[in-house]
Amino acid sequence: MSNLSYANENTNAWQTYLAQIDRVAPYLGDLTPYLDTLKRPKRALIVDVPIVMDDGSIQHFEGYRVQHNLSRGPGKGGIRYHPSVDLNEVMALSAWMTIKTAVLNLPFGGAKGGVRVDPRKLSTRELERLTRRFTTEISPIIGPQKDIPAPDVGTNPNIMGWMMDTYSTGQGHTVTGVVTGKPVHLGGSLGRVRATGRGVFVTGVEAAKKIGLSLEGSKVVVQGFGNVGSEAAYLFNQAGAKVVAVQDHTGTIFAANGLDVKALQKYVAEHQGVAGFSDAEAIDNEAMWDLDMDIFVPAALEGQITVARAERLTAKMVLEGANGPTYPEADDALIARGVTIVPDVICNAGGVTVSYFEWVQDMASYFWSEDEINERLDKLMINAVADVWNTATEKGCSLRTAAYILACERILKARKERGIFPG
Ligand code: GLU
Repeated sequence: MSNLSYANENTNAWQTYLAQIDRVAPYLGDLTPYLDTLKRPKRALIVDVPIVMDDGSIQHFEGYRVQHNLSRGPGKGGIRYHPSVDLNEVMALSAWMTIKTAVLNLPFGGAKGGVRVDPRKLSTRELERLTRRFTTEISPIIGPQKDIPAPDVGTNPNIMGWMMDTYSTGQGHTVTGVVTGKPVHLGGSLGRVRATGRGVFVTGVEAAKKIGLSLEGSKVVVQGFGNVGSEAAYLFNQAGAKVVAVQDHTGTIFAANGLDVKALQKYVAEHQGVAGFSDAEAIDNEAMWDLDMDIFVPAALEGQITVARAERLTAKMVLEGANGPTYPEADDALIARGVTIVPDVICNAGGVTVSYFEWVQDMASYFWSEDEINERLDKLMINAVADVWNTATEKGCSLRTAAYILACERILKARKERGIFPG
């Protein structure tokens, strides 16, 4: 273990990614010399985004687009609006996209973007100006065949609509395929908004079958009640599980007999957070980690599961709806205790999978029904879980390392066959 990169709560997201990459090196055979290609991003653009605020003042925000790897196709990955966005985080998120698209065998590389901003503090007009200026600044490196942004934490279909419109204005014609996660009437795909949460549920069902965990009556705790956490909670609830606690930026709520997830979704739409929801008890945020539970779904931000929290967690299964929620040393601690972790690069890949479907539909200008989309999504995710599970069993490694083995083999094979220019 000592020769592996060190990553815990004192280190950053990129170091977490490097530690995960280190763990795959022994399994890559003659592809190993190419692994260094994944230890640095191919291209990183930092932009200044000045906007005129509603009060007439001018504010500057820092924005990024990082293309981590393009060996298997155009860059793909979301745009994050959050006060803690920085180059290090966007680099890590872009690298996780490289791995994620390759595990699902989607014909994309990995990219990510973001702006260091608290979108809750901007008016709708300010948010639109920020989005349009940011899109203009990154437009030299994005495009339907170059790099295709999508929503992430703090962004949504409306923002994707503005991005598409801004890019199209620059091109002189409508280019729907430049971003995914758009509103449906602007070339978006049915099922995209709920796809990530659906994928978390589908991979969870598959993993539960493998470890003999019955969903009926099982206790689920969800951290984050945005796009991903709320849909996953809803689907687990529908399947007979009890969602006993939910945590978001406003606090943590607990109900031993299970929360009414539909009512909670309605409440959060009106109140912007779970705090104050009736029929539930408010508990301390840190107390969430000690709750009695079968399934834990981190669906908020990275760096949540530390070694200390891993040791307290009673869950049998962790479904990583968020990107990078578990530090590598905490990963090891959970595995040592027999906890099954379905890693982010497969667990939350439902979103980018339906983004792929959206891109294909935009290219063909021919749109599919929601049933077709969900059916294709479920099939891809179920097969990917089976592949990852079989690889883990065969190699005697964690599901995360197994996912990285499958992904790195695909990426580095492409790298090797394309050759290093100029040769
Ligand atoms: N931001 C999402 C992710 O982390 C979706 C990316 C996409 O659809 O391209 O996977």
